This record gives sequence, C-alpha cells and structure tokens, in this order.
Amino acid sequence: MERKNNLKEIVEFNKEFVESKEYEKYKTTKYPEKSMVIVSCMDTRLTELLPKAMNLKNGDAKIIKNAGGLVVHPFGSAMRSILICVYEFDVKEVFIVGHYDCGVSTLDINRIIREMKEKGIEEKTLNTLLNSGIDIKTWMHGFDCIEESVEKTVATVKNHPLLPADVAVHGLIMNPETGKIDVVIDGFEKLKENNL
Ligand SMILES: [Zn+2]
Repeated sequence: MERKNNLKEIVEFNKEFVESKEYEKYKTTKYPEKSMVIVSCMDTRLTELLPKAMNLKNGDAKIIKNAGGLVVHPFGSAMRSILICVYEFDVKEVFIVGHYDCGVSTLDINRIIREMKEKGIEEKTLNTLLNSGIDIKTWMHGFDCIEESVEKTVATVKNHPLLPADVAVHGLIMNPETGKIDVVIDGFEKLKENNL
C-alpha cells in the first residue's frame, strides 16, 4: 500500500492558497487582541471547535497545546511559553482548558512501553534513562481525573515564582462534542481575594 504523503498535498494546496490570497482574511498582529493565552489539549476534536466555542478568531489569543493541556513542569516549555506571553505579549489572563474524555487520562503506559520495544527501542535504552533519573512511566503519565488535573495545572501556573500576581489564571473543562464549557476556577475571584 502506498504511504500517505500529506506533505505533497499540503505543498500543492499551499501554492494555490497563497496565489489566491486566501490569507488576507486572517491578517492580524502577533499581539493577542484579547490579551489572553490558552493552554489546551492537542485532541483533534478541539482543533476548530475550541476557538469557535470560545468565540476566538485569528489574532485574539495565544494557544499552547500539548497532550492533556498540562503544565507538567514549572520550568518546562509550556510554562516558558506562558511567561513569554505575559512579559512579551501583554497577556493578562491564562485559560487552562482541559476536556472530558481526554485520551491522556486513559493512557496505558505499559502498553506504550511494550510498543516501544516492538518498534525497536531497546530495554537497555529504557534502563539507561531510568538510571539518569528519567522514569518513562512517570514522565508520560497523564492524569486520572480531569477536574483535579485542571486544578493542579492552574495551581502550578498561579503559584509560579515568576508569574506577576495580577495575572488571572482560569480553569475550564470543555465537552469535546458540544464545546460546552464548565468553569472550574474563575481566576478573577482569586485576584479579588488578594485585592488585585
Ligand atoms: Zn485530551
């Protein structure tokens, strides 16, 4: 069977896109008009649904995506992006947007490790990583409960030593079928408590 070549299709499409000036309706600046950043999951159901359900158009918000919409490490790439949003792009609100039925919550790490081995990753590689302090199981593990996960990520961002106190950090959960949002944490309430 011939292997699918998305690259080829994309390059052909792109030529037409640019030539017909399709881009004109997306013109905007790199500064988010709504002064906000979203951290969300890479789930393909959310690709278009999330911005539509939040009434966001091109130019409105910075969007950071990863598996689960998590900020796992306070000095990892997601948190770095948030801080750049705040200090370089004048972002005042951070939205942590998890979603129900997230694939990350049901990850079977043992199955993934079996598959790694089947695809040629050697046991000794895993052991070398483990000896260097990288436990693949812990590293790849997502979460069991989406509410807890969103609360944890909000806390990681809100309590970050480099985040200014007046930035609101919200926690939301989206239904990946309907786009309905449940607000778990309203970041402005926390600011009010602190008279900010
Ligand atoms: Zn997800």
